[in-house]
Amino acid sequence: MPCRTTKELNELVQEAKKYTGKGKVADYIPALAKAHHEELSVAIFHDDGTCVSAGDVKQKLTLQSVSKVLTLALALMDYGEEAVFSKVGYEPTGDPFNSIVKLEFSPSKPLNPMINAGALAVTHMIKGKNEEERFERILTFIQQLAGNSAIGYSAEVAESEYRTSDLNRALCYFMKQHGVIDEDIEELLRVYTKQCAIEMDCLDLARIGCVLAMDGVEPRTNLRLIPASVARLCKTFMVTCGMYNASGEFAVRVGIPAKSGVSGGIMGSVPNRFGIGIFGPALDEKGNSIGGTKLLEIMSAKYNMSMF
Ligand code: GLN
Repeated sequence: MPCRTTKELNELVQEAKKYTGKGKVADYIPALAKAHHEELSVAIFHDDGTCVSAGDVKQKLTLQSVSKVLTLALALMDYGEEAVFSKVGYEPTGDPFNSIVKLEFSPSKPLNPMINAGALAVTHMIKGKNEEERFERILTFIQQLAGNSAIGYSAEVAESEYRTSDLNRALCYFMKQHGVIDEDIEELLRVYTKQCAIEMDCLDLARIGCVLAMDGVEPRTNLRLIPASVARLCKTFMVTCGMYNASGEFAVRVGIPAKSGVSGGIMGSVPNRFGIGIFGPALDEKGNSIGGTKLLEIMSAKYNMSMF
């Protein structure tokens, strides 16, 4: 049974909130350091279009790494699987999301599209005649998935990340040297940091999670927004790499396709049932929302969410 009452969901949030004190807000992107440590909110969007939420769900969060799943979908729709996976691999790394180490191994393309190197290679592929058009295409696609044309991006967070992106810059130069990407690195970083700074609330995030849960169909309008094969491929990466190098343990404890970001966002997709959007900025040592992960564990046990 999915959760249908706010009271019930509130109780689960209160339970999970106890863990936020053990986490730490991301500060390597200076603008993210302003987030409130103890915050935890969640929205569930069911396949019949109904929604339940708990916590301060009007709070906005930036997508950060959650955006990687959505640019992957767009690149696959633009170019198809063969072309996309000529630039990026299918395998989990077991390394932190921003690690450079595996790029040293042959072939030197990034191992998967959910680590920073792989996501940068995917953003490199997004079609458009200039950086503005490429970013607009990403933003419009995300607005369509959430059914909310008011979604925008935080210029402050984008700028803050762009100015401090030296690790991502290094990944890009490494990949440029090895022929994975061949554009101006600063332009690519501007598109990527804006994509990561796209801003929404938990409900928007849950709606997008639900579209993926329904294999690409928006349940309220019955419109197909993503081909089923692309939605399934994205969900598979969410299972194998969506929670960075904690994806194995997450698969055991929660067992759903999910993608997290260093802002503390988690988007979950319970196949054929519902989408989940969570915001809890205190992170564990691997960069996942500590309260959000705990909340998903509790929800998985209570609502029998695991697909395994
Ligand atoms: N914008 C972030 C970065 O590239 C995204 C990483 C994340 O959310 N794990 O570092």
